[in-house]
Amino acid sequence: MQRIGVIPGDGVGPEVIAEARKVLDAVAEKRNLALEFEEFPLGASHFLKTDEVLSDETLQRLSKKDALLLGAMGDPRVKPGILEKGVLLRLRFHFDQYVNLRPVKLMEGVPSPLRSDAGRIDLQFIRENTEDFYVGLGGRVKKGLSKTELDLKRRTYEAKFDVGIELEDEEELAFQIGAITRHGARRIMEYAFQMAKSKGIEPVTCVDKANVLTDAYGIWREAAEEVSGRLGVKKEFQYVDAVALHMVRTPDRFKMIVAPNLFGDILTDLGAALQGGLGFAPSGNINPSGVSMFEPVHGSAPDIAGKGLANPIGAILSASLMLESLGQKPAAADVERAVQGVLRAGKHRTADVGGKTSTSKMGDAVVAVILK
Ligand code: ATP
Repeated sequence: MQRIGVIPGDGVGPEVIAEARKVLDAVAEKRNLALEFEEFPLGASHFLKTDEVLSDETLQRLSKKDALLLGAMGDPRVKPGILEKGVLLRLRFHFDQYVNLRPVKLMEGVPSPLRSDAGRIDLQFIRENTEDFYVGLGGRVKKGLSKTELDLKRRTYEAKFDVGIELEDEEELAFQIGAITRHGARRIMEYAFQMAKSKGIEPVTCVDKANVLTDAYGIWREAAEEVSGRLGVKKEFQYVDAVALHMVRTPDRFKMIVAPNLFGDILTDLGAALQGGLGFAPSGNINPSGVSMFEPVHGSAPDIAGKGLANPIGAILSASLMLESLGQKPAAADVERAVQGVLRAGKHRTADVGGKTSTSKMGDAVVAVILK
């Protein structure tokens, strides 16, 4: 029995998760899988009703699951940041989901924003999810002498910063600190290179800006060198600006990209655009030895919520990623193949790519292929 916690969330979240659930039920029937689902009503409605974002008791219950499937968080009635930080970021942090896995694949039948001869787009994007310039360390100081104390606390370490600044001839200065630990860089490289090895992918492209940010990305490169050598998988280093350029001009040169948090955030949205738009992009927030959480890349899209217009493919492919991480490879492949079949046939298209198929009809079409 595999226990899955489902958090439909806000906006289009419940609509796309309903389709992912349908697809999971179908593939469970076909493959005789024992999947048990429990829904958690986190998100805007729950918050407005109870004033509670995410209780310790809920966290406790979620921690007993084998995986989590999430729709989207965010609602115009709630101040931006409360749900995103209070639920999404808290879950990622609590479960130490240090890998953000974002496969970028342009499927046949999906309109590409690139030239028709740009080549195949099919790559694994692996973004580090806990460090770099997103550790939230920074401050603003006025002219003169100042001292700022900052604390970086993670599950496995704590670092205290004592920043003394003497500012002359300028009225104010703002600073932001990026931090990468050897452990943090090593574990993301291990995840990436292990996956590359098991999928037969070479080389792994390691992204950074080590020519300018020499310390932070120096340690990043050292970890890549070490893990690549140890696992016997080739790698290449590329600067983030070059990767952005090549992703648009010659995306087929990449098979796997591993990126630090900030650059990964930006490049993976470029990836979502390349695969046809936000509606098609799946993701996993993964802790290989803990509880991982799978979610479509898009947000709650309040402008189209409740209208049956949302594209559920990103959510359905996220469910497929979840199956794969639960060790259910044939079932995961069934789902991906069914999605490919539906898109290739071209009969069903949601409004984001100029079609008329509703969210639930799209899910039905995928289910029909699985059960055929
Ligand atoms: P967030 O900050 O939570 O990511 P956002 O408003 O920046 O939210 P989304 O909520 O993802 O981004 O939506 C951006 C736009 O993309 C939406 O307004 C919507 O029109 C479109 N969109 C997002 N997801 C989908 C989807 N599944 N199907 C169709 N269109 C979508």
